[in-house]
Amino acid sequence: AASFAGKRVSLFGLGGSGIATARALIEGGADVLAWDDNPGSVANAAAVGIATGDLRGADWAKFSAFVLSPGVPLTHPKPHWTVELARASGVEIIGDIELFCRQRTLLAPAAPFIAITGTNGKSTTTALTAHILKSAGRDTQMGGNIGRAVMTLDPPEPGRHYVVECSSYQIDLAPSINPTAGVLLNLTPDHLDRHGTMQHYAAIKERLAAGSETAIVGVDDSWCAQLADRLERAGQHVIRISKRLPLTDGYFADGTDLMEAVHGRYSRIAFLEGIGSLRGQHNAQNALAAIAACLKVGLELGEIQSGLESFPGLAHRMEQVGRKGHVLFINDSKATNADAAAPALSSFPRIYWIAGGLPKEGGIEPLRGLFPRVAKAYLIGEAAPAFSATLGEAVPYEISGTLAAAVEHAASDAARDDGNGEVVVLLSPACASFDQFKNFEVRGEAFRQAASTIDGVKLIGG
Ligand code: ADP
Repeated sequence: AASFAGKRVSLFGLGGSGIATARALIEGGADVLAWDDNPGSVANAAAVGIATGDLRGADWAKFSAFVLSPGVPLTHPKPHWTVELARASGVEIIGDIELFCRQRTLLAPAAPFIAITGTNGKSTTTALTAHILKSAGRDTQMGGNIGRAVMTLDPPEPGRHYVVECSSYQIDLAPSINPTAGVLLNLTPDHLDRHGTMQHYAAIKERLAAGSETAIVGVDDSWCAQLADRLERAGQHVIRISKRLPLTDGYFADGTDLMEAVHGRYSRIAFLEGIGSLRGQHNAQNALAAIAACLKVGLELGEIQSGLESFPGLAHRMEQVGRKGHVLFINDSKATNADAAAPALSSFPRIYWIAGGLPKEGGIEPLRGLFPRVAKAYLIGEAAPAFSATLGEAVPYEISGTLAAAVEHAASDAARDDGNGEVVVLLSPACASFDQFKNFEVRGEAFRQAASTIDGVKLIGG
């Protein structure tokens, strides 16, 4: 990052992306002193020529900035002493997105930069936006909270497009974030453990929108709706999107038709009909945000529609993994709590539902309204007893124990389902995976594997 040429910078956190960030700073001429409380990480950094040293003993008055690596939250207990030291010496605390923004401002301020945040849908919207840009032939770099850390992307140059997923704590550490299009999808109470109050959480996300040339805001929740009004009153250019309201101005979904509204006059600009990877109302919100961002950077509607149609979807998020006749196998392993499982349960009319794992507070109680869609539930992991109590008389269920058994039983019941039309075997666990799997990705792969062993199943993708 050339913006720190000749300056001393301290950095904490030497995982892969921390090392990449330190090296980018050094290449830009900064004098970096880096540290981690894991000796192995310090050794890895030293091995690639990064100056390392315990920041406790450093002369903090000499640092121009303190960089907290991606993956090390401000409130992380371990590096808290570094944050205190930085604050006590008046050294600004920044993250890798801030470094990226300064570098872009210096090297190629006109390079289109789309930043995406929100409580849910960030990764899908980021991947979709990057996919549309790439398929339209644009030079596109994607990263941030998804995939590669921003400082490992190719450096800004005119005409190069950046699509960056931002977590709230990354925005918190990026005071001069200034995207061409800043997308705020939605705000619901989540991550409050880290950010204290909803007010604070919302204020952080608002900063991204406020710093944008154009703010693209999903107005389906009251926090975001008010925020859009407030930004507009303050003179900000705001584009509203909604997955359900016919807006007077902005972009909205009418079923699978995506509409533009200009002073109350409507026209269809794109459609999702038949695009399996973008099924469900929540994906209409994601698609509208991607469309608004792509239009902002000059794409044409034809290019956008073909990008929507060729989007493969993200693994483990309502991912279609196989089909056998009228039975579709859907991997939604990323749904690690009830809120995240709701979109999948809302997207299919007749579901053989595999749920369970390590339960979260509240269990599946919030999903009760969707129970009528569930033909039968197959419960796995530690949550099984609690979930069976919630399902009670409302939904037939079995305690399958393992995922493999659940898939086998669900597949055979679904095959015998004689109702007309499509039925789904859905893994949307509403639980963490750690009781039976290393992480949600491994759980999703195990689901695909189990589906592949069922006689007659045709795998999709992978
Ligand atoms: P994030 O990166 O914000 O965690 P993802 O794109 O990875 O979001 O999606 C995670 C899960 O959240 C999906 O499986 C889906 O259940 C749900 N989801 C996706 N988009 C939305 C949205 N716009 N609104 C609400 N829920 C969503």
